[in-house]
Amino acid sequence: TVAKAYTGIVEDCCCDYETVNRLNKKIVHPILQELVTFPFFRYFKVKLWCDCEFWPDDGMCKLRDCSVCECPESEFPEPFKKPFHVLSDYELMCQEGRQQASVDRTIDSKVFKGWVEIDNPWTHDDEADNAELTYVNLQLNPERYTGYSGTSARRIWDAIYSDNCSKFPSDELCQEKRVLYKLISGLHSSISVHLAADYLLDEATNLWGQNLEIMYDRVLRYPDRVKNLYFTFLFVLRAVMKAADYLEQAEYNTGNPMEDLKTQSLVRQLVHHPNLRASCPLPFDEAKLWQGHSGPELKLEVQKQFKNISALMDCVGCEKCRLWGKLQVLGLGTALKILFSVNSHNLEDKPLQLQLQRNEVIALMNLLNRLSESVKLIHEMGPSIGKIPKAS
Ligand code: FAD
Repeated sequence: TVAKAYTGIVEDCCCDYETVNRLNKKIVHPILQELVTFPFFRYFKVKLWCDCEFWPDDGMCKLRDCSVCECPESEFPEPFKKPFHVLSDYELMCQEGRQQASVDRTIDSKVFKGWVEIDNPWTHDDEADNAELTYVNLQLNPERYTGYSGTSARRIWDAIYSDNCSKFPSDELCQEKRVLYKLISGLHSSISVHLAADYLLDEATNLWGQNLEIMYDRVLRYPDRVKNLYFTFLFVLRAVMKAADYLEQAEYNTGNPMEDLKTQSLVRQLVHHPNLRASCPLPFDEAKLWQGHSGPELKLEVQKQFKNISALMDCVGCEKCRLWGKLQVLGLGTALKILFSVNSHNLEDKPLQLQLQRNEVIALMNLLNRLSESVKLIHEMGPSIGKIPKAS
């Protein structure tokens, strides 16, 4: 079974498969499943109609399941419409883009100072509050099979792997580039798992269900793809745990005090969960990266590659895939920002402060939920397929 095939420590991480499956099933998955239904986490701001800067428009795919249903303005939370906090010069001094590459494992514990609008050095942002942005209710637009495939989809994946992260990571590839490859491959596995788990089995009767064959053909028969999924899950989980104080203090205001309090309490339960912290205290060790004097240069290079991947999401020719592609790449970019863009100390020897956009936190938690669901599905559905590959 999958449980037997994948044993030992998840490569490049600090926890073993068995612990990950147990913690995910008992703690992470149930909390996140509930959390993402609350108003704060179910509305995502996104620019759905955007020009692809790499090639002429493919045209949106015509399947009904490709389209996103946008919310009427009256539906999305009133506080989301208010302008963001403007940063002072002092606060700006403590932001991203500093040249040092050293990474600390901690973040200042009194961190949340209000939602800000500030660029993420890892992503190609379209956050500016302009008329082209819409709020989408994620609960009404689940990530599932859409029928998007063929040359348009292939072109995106090819561009992501060939131009921006080496498709066949060799041993010569430095650890940092290997991490980028594994993050993308893990996300790709997760997308495949979700489309297989929620598949249109019969168009005539509109019957949806699990397609185990696709799950096996696209993911389970490739041990590396499964391993990369676990890696990506642990990487994002580490970012959430590292930003625990920030996430706990953050303002989850949607204008409904009861629901907002519950949201905050669920976030607190997750990020400070004693069993999670005791059993897998450091899911990924970010301080091992960007060492040596080429560290800063390498970091800028990998940042540029990830930014490109983020820009490629504008070229996804199916609206719903574009929505989830953008959300999940922003979530990964947020995890990268938390883990790698908060340097150890500024000139006055004070820890640098994390500043996140509200949309980044929404993307981060929804991404973690998608990954957590994929890990659970792989773990549970794998054995029922009956032809599980052995781990290499
Ligand atoms: P693809 O999944 O397109 O893979 C292309 C090639 O990449 C494979 O031949 C293989 O060589 C390699 N590859 C595959 N998986 C991995 C991996 N995990 N790691 C490393 N290499 C790998 N479709 C939906 O139905 N619903 C969605 O929500 C959806 N979202 C998408 C979001 C994005 C950003 C993109 C680019 C596509 C999305 N698609 C979605 C399309 C879907 O991902 C596939 O492209 C499509 O189903 C066709 O699959 P395929 O079998 O041709 O292989």
